[in-house]
Amino acid sequence: MSRLVVAADFGGTNLRSALVNEAGDVVERIDRSTPAEASPDAILREILQLFRDIVARAPAPPVSAALGVPGLIDADQGMVILAPNVAGFRNLVLTAPIEEQLGIPVFIENDASAAALGEFRFGAGRGTRHLLHATLGTGIGGGIVIDGRLYRGARGLAGEIGHVIIDPAGPRCNCGSRGCLESMVSGVAFAERARRVLATGSSPLLQEIVGARDPSAADLQAAAEAGDKTCEAEIRHGGHLLGLGLGSLVNVLNPEAITLSGGLLNMGDMLLGPMKESMHSIAYGPASGTIVRISSLGDEAGLLGAAAVAFERVE
Ligand code: ADP
Ligand code: MG
Ligand code: ZN
Repeated sequence: MSRLVVAADFGGTNLRSALVNEAGDVVERIDRSTPAEASPDAILREILQLFRDIVARAPAPPVSAALGVPGLIDADQGMVILAPNVAGFRNLVLTAPIEEQLGIPVFIENDASAAALGEFRFGAGRGTRHLLHATLGTGIGGGIVIDGRLYRGARGLAGEIGHVIIDPAGPRCNCGSRGCLESMVSGVAFAERARRVLATGSSPLLQEIVGARDPSAADLQAAAEAGDKTCEAEIRHGGHLLGLGLGSLVNVLNPEAITLSGGLLNMGDMLLGPMKESMHSIAYGPASGTIVRISSLGDEAGLLGAAAVAFERVE
């Protein structure tokens, strides 16, 4: 029988958990809402309960567990240093109390890094040895697989591709620098582009779509798709910048493939066309052969990423 692991994915909205086998099948799953405002103690109790409940459904004892968290983690200490979008996740030691309860090894990983290993093992990155994964959502994250192993770096920070700088005069990023990919082409950054377009009054169509609301990346996309040239140019320019950032990384890492996930993929070729073009135009020699693939894990990427980490850690 295939071995099982416990996988958990802690986001700003949902706390998800699952039992996953070696083929990447989710055999049991429990989703709960993330407590909006709660003390670290209350969150920890909630998490321990979730692990108790999912393990109770296991037909055989799981070999290990791993959880993905959107933020800075210290894998050696098993703690979350900071997860801005998850209530109360700050300097929170998670693995030790879970290990004590479950009696199996428990690991923690940055969610985008986990997603990279998930794509590599179960998804669009299968068949590669060297893979770069980029998450294009509210923010921009990523993970790097080298020689079939997740590359974590000295302090577990590796793969933070959102903070590659592409314009030193660009907007201020959450990290303090200017012109990071995340501050230029993330979901939040596209919403800001939409705000600027509205402020100049150059897109009546976007204005009509947005009304009195605050605009989003999806609004910019909707206006562009309905034929608005200003909005389309914003998205194309964003794609171009994204390609410069990813192309720079390709020149450093020479992966066989880049896998992409996240809500911005809804922008389709309007974003991805210019992205691939500028990526390939700056590629150095053989780096131009890097393949771009869309994630195939969909809604389960977080859980399968954590599962991949749980299997890798005990291999
Ligand atoms: P998260 O980072 O929270 O996991 P997602 O990967 O779900 O986020 O991506 C959310 C982002 O994708 C938001 O910024 C949202 O505006 C954007 N988005 C969602 N749908 C579309 C769309 N149709 N066109 C463009 N952007 C979209
Ligand atoms: Mg990462
Ligand atoms: Zn930054």
